[in-house]
Amino acid sequence: MKEIHIQSINLSRLMREGGSTDARGEILEYITLEKERIPLEGPARWKVGVTRVEGEGGQEFWLSGEIAGYAVLECRRCLTPTPTPVRAHFQYMLRYQPGLTHLEAIEEDEEEILLFGHPDLDLGPLLSEAFALELPYTVLCKEDCKGLCPVCGANRNEVDCGHHEEPQTKLGAELSRLMGDLKD
Ligand SMILES: [Zn+2]
Ligand SMILES: [Zn+2]
Repeated sequence: MKEIHIQSINLSRLMREGGSTDARGEILEYITLEKERIPLEGPARWKVGVTRVEGEGGQEFWLSGEIAGYAVLECRRCLTPTPTPVRAHFQYMLRYQPGLTHLEAIEEDEEEILLFGHPDLDLGPLLSEAFALELPYTVLCKEDCKGLCPVCGANRNEVDCGHHEEPQTKLGAELSRLMGDLKD
């Protein structure tokens, strides 16, 4: 059974009274992006704090938070799924705009502001994006990963398939034949 964890923070009280609030939670199994999913090893833990600030355009909020977990990425040499630590910090200026159904980013005085339309702020997209931005481009399962054999595809960390030479080119084969002939 898969549990569905909703990542959100409720800003109703801040909207009425001002002040600060925070929330924390866990994301299990996957970080979900628009077009892909990043598998996780163990839960990714997040915490977020929001403070209401005086804004020109009505209700504005300063949000900051962090998320940390282990993304499972393929080793670039042997393709073994490799848990890789990822930690991201993020900050956003938010503005309440009733009626919006999802987050919308606008730029104002060279600052990005996120518009949201419901006091129950959906943190999912913010957490996923922050996490994805901190993913390394490539990982290795270990410093000295031997990779896959170019001849048979075996994982050289696990088996010795016997293909120690690079695959011979036709020219190479011809040359060694000639060399052999010369020796005789
Ligand atoms: Zn590897
Ligand atoms: Zn091989």
